Amino acid sequence: MNPYPCVMSVTPRPPVTMVKGQGSWLYDADGRAYLDFIQGWAVNTLGHAPAVVAEALKAQATRLLNAGPAFFNGPMIELADRLCRLSGLDQVCFANSGAETNEAAIKLARKYGQHRGAFQIITTHNSFHGRTLAAMSASGKPQWEPLFEPKVPGFVKVPFDDVEAIEREINERTVAVMVEPIQGEGGVIVPGADYLRRLRELTERYGLLLILDEIQTGVGRTGTMFAFQQFGIRPDIVTLAKGLGGGVPIGAMLARKEVCCFEAGDQGGTFAGNALNSAVACAVLDEVSQPGFLNRVRETGHYLQSRLERLAQEHRLGGVRGRGLLCAIETPAGNSIEIQAEAFAAGLLLNAPRPHCLRLMPALNVTVDEIDEMALRLGRVLEAQRALA
Ligand SMILES: *Cc1c(COP(=O)(O)O)cnc(C)c1O
Repeated sequence: MNPYPCVMSVTPRPPVTMVKGQGSWLYDADGRAYLDFIQGWAVNTLGHAPAVVAEALKAQATRLLNAGPAFFNGPMIELADRLCRLSGLDQVCFANSGAETNEAAIKLARKYGQHRGAFQIITTHNSFHGRTLAAMSASGKPQWEPLFEPKVPGFVKVPFDDVEAIEREINERTVAVMVEPIQGEGGVIVPGADYLRRLRELTERYGLLLILDEIQTGVGRTGTMFAFQQFGIRPDIVTLAKGLGGGVPIGAMLARKEVCCFEAGDQGGTFAGNALNSAVACAVLDEVSQPGFLNRVRETGHYLQSRLERLAQEHRLGGVRGRGLLCAIETPAGNSIEIQAEAFAAGLLLNAPRPHCLRLMPALNVTVDEIDEMALRLGRVLEAQRALA
């Protein structure tokens, strides 16, 4: 039930109003505190209201908000330089959200293949690439299949973590393969250790582009700046959003120069590359690039996984999986949605991307004490669930 009839209902929302946040804690209008292991769907890289973001916003807001996309601005140039240096890719095209960034990647790939009549992009079942029509069409979410027909044509779907299945679908119309290095919304599905390397070999052999959707895995989430760096490969196109803005909306498509074939007018957006959000993204990258920061993400990630494994043993849950601070735990009884609701009532925010798993994506600077507190609260919820069963 929606208590605010002027707010269009597009997702179920509990009847509380969030008013402030600090670090790993989110507070509602009644003063209730929630330990936040969702963090706005993995966007609050540094937690709620981090000082560095507030300072960057204030400093940039008093100088220049938006000169318009048809001018260079300082933070835009600075952010593009940093993203290229950090990723080893050559050029950056900005956007405002993940879906829009993937849209840019799809367009770039189609333009790249146009001279030889190639436009098909191979994507994977249970993938999530966003909610614009093309990004929905690229996604492998079964619930979306009947929605908003007709879809954008030109996407072929195969099982995730199956290189042979991709090879079988390649033909003269194929231009690219697009995957998430770890499927996020699909339930934190980590592929085999050689999947991305073999995908890179395959796409090179057939002259296809490899597009990595790192909107969820990028900017330190999995313990390295980009997840692809753990696999020793260089993709052709990488898309970022979520964590890049640390809470403000920004997206960035990174590409190798050989692929950069957009001409004037092909791509753009009124807000793309605006000074305000670019300045914030620079501040976020500053923090994540601090010596020891990513090492800490890996350490706290291991700690989080070990605490979840202990809970899994105590409460007969299934496996724990993930990388860095993107984790999931299996709920074999198919009751993750109930657990999520009970956890909410107990002041703990977790996400149930599907009935058989819970996903955790805390701030990258989450503390060991906060992980212990999460485990304590989740343990109580699981205990109560068991008493009911
Ligand atoms: C969230 C997400 C998107 C969509 O991003 P929006 O900013 O919601 O449009 C795309 N791909 C992946 C992997 C995501 O996790």
